[in-house]
Amino acid sequence: MTGLTDLGIAAIRDGVRSGDFSAREVAQAFSAAVEKGRALNAFTVETPDHALAAADAADAARAAGALKPLSGVPLGIKDLFATRDVRTTAGSRILEGFEPPYESTVSGNLFAAGAGMLGKLNMDEFAMGSSNETSAWGPVLSPWRRSDGGNAPLTPGGSSGGSASAVAARLAPGVTGTDTGGSIRQPAAFVGITGIKPTYGRCSRWGMVAFASSLDQAGPMARDVRDCAILLEAMAGFDPKDSTSLDLPVPRWEASLSADVRGKRIGIPREYRIDGVPAEIDEVWEKGIALMRDAGAEIVDVSLPHTRYALPTYYIIAPAEASSNLARYDGVRYGLRRAPPNGNLTDMYEATRAAGFGAEVKRRIMIGTYVLSAGFYDAYFNRAQKVRALIARDFERAWETCDLLLTPTAPSAAFALGEKSNDPIAMYLNDVFAVPASLAGLPAISVPAGLNAEGLPLGLQLVGRALDEQSVLDAGLALEERAGFAARPEAWW
Ligand code: GLN
Repeated sequence: MTGLTDLGIAAIRDGVRSGDFSAREVAQAFSAAVEKGRALNAFTVETPDHALAAADAADAARAAGALKPLSGVPLGIKDLFATRDVRTTAGSRILEGFEPPYESTVSGNLFAAGAGMLGKLNMDEFAMGSSNETSAWGPVLSPWRRSDGGNAPLTPGGSSGGSASAVAARLAPGVTGTDTGGSIRQPAAFVGITGIKPTYGRCSRWGMVAFASSLDQAGPMARDVRDCAILLEAMAGFDPKDSTSLDLPVPRWEASLSADVRGKRIGIPREYRIDGVPAEIDEVWEKGIALMRDAGAEIVDVSLPHTRYALPTYYIIAPAEASSNLARYDGVRYGLRRAPPNGNLTDMYEATRAAGFGAEVKRRIMIGTYVLSAGFYDAYFNRAQKVRALIARDFERAWETCDLLLTPTAPSAAFALGEKSNDPIAMYLNDVFAVPASLAGLPAISVPAGLNAEGLPLGLQLVGRALDEQSVLDAGLALEERAGFAARPEAWW
């Protein structure tokens, strides 16, 4: 059947339920698309059998009148999630060949809800990056090309680059992503799809390879807001195996979805107007502000005075936590082992880590161990923790005068592969609008809002109060409906 890969999560779920098509047909159509889309390098492992088995279970469940929320929906799973007996590498050579004997809570929740897995999605190594170029398995290509004839391959963003590319190219109707400092939102913006990072603690981190534990959060990426709400509902929930998991019921976000934002106060943080950001970013932001005003929201000017410290704070805290988390890769317990002949244990650690980690990961381990070292702990790590508290307080103050914040998601459209890969600072600057909400643990969504002059997608971000995903999704839906973004990349793969 043709056309099935044009459907999103809600349409697949409803079509399987009403018998318009079988789950098996859906799984077959997407698995064929995954195979045809290999030039994008979005998947590190393809698991068509997993998708088919779940589909057959869904078709049987329909016959028995026992459909589940995601019966018949095939998904891509970011390779940061441990999947039982399926290779899980977090984009790193150091986990080469690792097949976890357990399932991450998030992927397990999705499968328990009836979803199947099309495969594992490529990503920046240990989720460190904004372009998917730090993956040990090569960069992911964006399905988008600039319309001006400049055919340079573009990044789909990162670190959830495979996730973004797979959804935009219609290889999967929805996927998991993870967001430590923007990795769901920035790639979603770069490829014209929707992605939400929920409140820190909504989704269990158990079985999700750790990068920076106080920031890491799972979330969905899909074609629209409704599909994200459906996926997030299935992913989220209390998990006693994660000590930071929130022991709260999962709201029925989809059933409560409403694009009615009349009376909502939407804050425009003045410190997000940053010198050097291209005019097209300001323009799409102004457009979003006008659309929300038209929808009946009240637009208010707000101040988040510590915004300019967010990026340096993030790039102290995230590497510090990463250096500690990544100490477990020692050649003994997981994946790769390099043991020089006649070497001792330390030689093995060193050889394994030298061969297993890529340049960006090594850079972060060095920064992290430096800022945590006895001589510099107070000057860097401790101070960064204090500034983090001030950043969180900025948001608390903003919520006194507004309900949501509207900002650009990223300071540019997608850039070309190679354009920033030799300049870590330029790469880090890409996270400027994303990291404040991460440091404060707040829910934030990116919704596609338009195309730039070169025909590339631009996204807008909505940030909400802790636990108020509903308002974020609702305002996202209002923006989605009014922006009417319908562009999609022309297939070349
Ligand atoms: N680009 C940011 C970084 O490199 C964020 C990554 C993420 O959210 N996983 O750390």
